Amino acid sequence: MISSEFWRRLPKTETHVHLEGSISVERLHRLHRRHGLEWASWTPAEIRRQLSFATFPRFLEAFKKVCLAVRHEDDFVPVTEDFFDMLDREHIVHCEFFYTPAISWKFGLSAETVLENILAIARREGRRRSISWGIILDNVRQFPVDAFRRTLALGLRYRDAGVVGIGIGGDETCCSLEEYANPLAEARAGGLSVYLHTGETGDAAAMLADLKTARPRRVGHGLAAARSPAIRDYLQERGVVLDICPTSNIRTGVVENIEAHPLRDIASQNLPYTINSDDPALFETSLSAEYALVAERILNPLSLVNMVKTQEKNPLLPAHVKESLAAAGVRIIKEFGHGE
Ligand SMILES: [Zn+2]
Repeated sequence: MISSEFWRRLPKTETHVHLEGSISVERLHRLHRRHGLEWASWTPAEIRRQLSFATFPRFLEAFKKVCLAVRHEDDFVPVTEDFFDMLDREHIVHCEFFYTPAISWKFGLSAETVLENILAIARREGRRRSISWGIILDNVRQFPVDAFRRTLALGLRYRDAGVVGIGIGGDETCCSLEEYANPLAEARAGGLSVYLHTGETGDAAAMLADLKTARPRRVGHGLAAARSPAIRDYLQERGVVLDICPTSNIRTGVVENIEAHPLRDIASQNLPYTINSDDPALFETSLSAEYALVAERILNPLSLVNMVKTQEKNPLLPAHVKESLAAAGVRIIKEFGHGE
């Protein structure tokens, strides 16, 4: 068994990760102390217990508890600094990450000020650490569509300042995307790519309907693709990439165990996919741990070379990142290619 250190040192891209879901227990503790909230006197272990879950609805509740610790727009300064620390530690050379303005609005914060804070830190830390990045303004599907429209207006205003896309996450089983069709078309016409969570908890028919309405550039999870030739054809024809997050799927109970993960079928059907951490703090994982898990328990490690080639085709990558990824592919072949 190869050490996860090999995967940590490998240059990687992360295209499905939520800023809020990356807030560590230690940071949550500090935020509670700062604002005099309930967890201020708790131990990290007690906070961790409070954030435990075994089902998807319970996971959404834990996500909400994390968001409730962020009481001031300035809280996103240390949160984003921690996030870039983590990217650096994990040797992530390019990252597209989610921030959800609708949650800030719901809890009385100015999402515009939050976004300005995130952008300022991302610009500084990205330059300092040579990490390329883009922000996706995510949405909560079960919220009113007006929140999406408001998020879209914000995204269009910051399109040339680091916002690369607009997302839809939350509970995909709540409703069809019919009501979102017009604003989604406006987003695409305005130059924002669509990042859609679908096929995670929902079935193949609903995922296909989602794809046709949203026409996403990337899909979060999309596990239902493994059991639907119609979805496979749709994704392959349009080059839509599935951002797969294995530990997330196990922890939310969407997939029973790692041996049953549909990634094996997705890879064998030659669907373009990447490996991601989703909400690393909540799922107690890291991107390198996800790579190690996939290489040891789901796929032959050499097949990750194909995944790296999919990452290299990402149009948002600067030339030096593409070179790092090409070198990463060579390192995987060198490490695991003996006897091939
Ligand atoms: Zn996600």
